[in-house]
Order: sequence, then structure tokens, then C-alpha cells
Amino acid sequence: MRLLENKVAIVTGAGSGIGRAIAQLYAEEGAKVVVSDLDEQKGKETLTMIKDKGFEAIFMKADVGNADDCKKTVDQAVKTYGALHIACNNAGIAGKAAPIGDLTPADFDKVIKINLSGVFYGMHYQIPAMLKAGGGNIVNMASILGQVGMAGSSAYVSAKHGVVGITKNAALEYAKEGIRVNAVGPGFIETPLLTNNLSEEQMKQIRALHPLGRMGKATEVAELVLWLSSPKASFTSGNYFPLDGGYLAQ
Ligand code: NAP
Repeated sequence: MRLLENKVAIVTGAGSGIGRAIAQLYAEEGAKVVVSDLDEQKGKETLTMIKDKGFEAIFMKADVGNADDCKKTVDQAVKTYGALHIACNNAGIAGKAAPIGDLTPADFDKVIKINLSGVFYGMHYQIPAMLKAGGGNIVNMASILGQVGMAGSSAYVSAKHGVVGITKNAALEYAKEGIRVNAVGPGFIETPLLTNNLSEEQMKQIRALHPLGRMGKATEVAELVLWLSSPKASFTSGNYFPLDGGYLAQ
């Protein structure tokens, strides 16, 4: 039996990178997947990849920084598949790289809205649907920067520390009702979030920051998210799981 047989799952930011890898793996493991992304073209590409392999999924265009969109995504999951059991709140942006004195309030607010408020909006609507289903589980995408700082990334670091915090709170608030909530903290992962924004020289420097001497792959993050989303992780909740090639051990 596959790990997520008969489960219904939402993955946000599933049109690219880590979210795409998670949506594909969830589907391969038997979940019916709501592929959610703000970018319709990329989201539909992920949908096609899943359906071409004979697995079940729908696409839902949604901005995680918009609470109403997050509600519509949950409503669509329940309308199409009858319930919601799993959510991976993965969508996020890098934001502008600048020290605090040069970062505008609008730059800061934009990253907080998508990377932190987006996780709250998602869980706010996902949890009642999971309670109706008799329980569920949530994985929120944090980062190594949910544990340590990085000069020039104050909005991102603040948001990801917040994701770790709200994950602990959600876990405490719903543990007795059968909902597990965990956060994943990837090191630098070779996805368009980085490859579209950095030069090859910068990529080389970033690889060297990891004791394993390379960046991670989206599929490696997806394996951890799958485990957390599955019954195999039945005693984990409120935890933060780094996956970082040794970055945080330094
Ligand atoms: P990615 O390749 O850029 O994929 C993110 C996806 O989310 C994109 O399709 C993006 O669309 C979409 N998105 C952006 N804003 C959105 C919004 N407001 N609502 C819904 N979807 C939105 O990034 P990734 O590297 O896979 O990152 C996924 C998550 O992992 C993020 O939370 C990120 O912070 C986290 N993470 C990444 C790394 C890394 O090194 N890559 C490390 C640690 C943590 P557009 O492309 O159109 O913006």
C-alpha cells in the first residue's frame, strides 16, 4: 500500500522547485493532490506531469498572501475530493537582498505577507477542514534561515523564524484533535528561486557553505516532507527538521 493512499493533499507553490517535487511525490504515493500556485502556467505544467503518469490532481490558482484565495483552495479540495487530510504550505519568495536600513517597509511587508501570513492563512482554513475529516497533518516550509540569520535577508529570516514559531503553536493547539504540524528547514536547494536570481559565481559560493559541498535537490526535500506527511511520522509534531547538508552543524 502506498504511503498516502486515499488522502487528499494541498501543496502551495507547487508550480516550481520544491513544491513541484512534493506534489509529484505525494501523487506517486497515492494522494489526490491540489496543485496550488499563483503562476497558472507553471502550476498547470506540474498538473500535466502528474496526470501524464496516471495520478490524480487538480490545479488551483491562488495567492497565499490572500486569505480569500487560501479559503477557496481548501473549499475546492473538499468540493472535488470530499475532504482534506494533508497540507504542505510551501509557497515562498526570496525578497530583495538589502540590509535593514536600505530595505523599504514595502519590501519587508511583502515577504512577511507571503512567507509568514501565507502560512497562517493556509492553516486557518486547512485546520477546520482537517478536523471535519477526523484529523490530518501539515508541513510548513521554513528554511535554515528559520534558525539562524543571514546578512541582507532580514525579512526572509524573520518570516522563516515565524514559520517555525507558528508551527509549534499550531501543533500544541490541535495535538489532541489528531492534527500533526511540523516544519522543514532546507539548506540552499537548487531551484529557480536561486538559479533565477544568482550568478554562477554566487552559486559556487553557496555550494561551499554546505559541509557536503553542494546544494540540495528539490527531490531530497520532498522525501522528508513525504515522511512527515505519512503515518510513518506518527510521533512527530511541533518539530523543526533541517535538511541542510550539514549547514547548521557549523
Ligand atoms: P520556487 O522554485 O521559486 O517555487 C516557488 C513557487 O511559489 C513558484 O511557482 C512561485 O511562483 C510560487 N509563488 C510565489 N509567490 C506566491 C504566492 N504569493 N502564492 C502562491 N504561489 C506563489 O522556490 P523554491 O526554491 O521551490 O521554494 C519553495 C519554498 O522553499 C519557499 O518557501 C522557500 O522559501 C523555501 N526554501 C527554499 C530554499 C532554496 O534554497 N530554494 C531553501 C530553503 C527554503 P513565481 O515563480 O511566479 O514567483
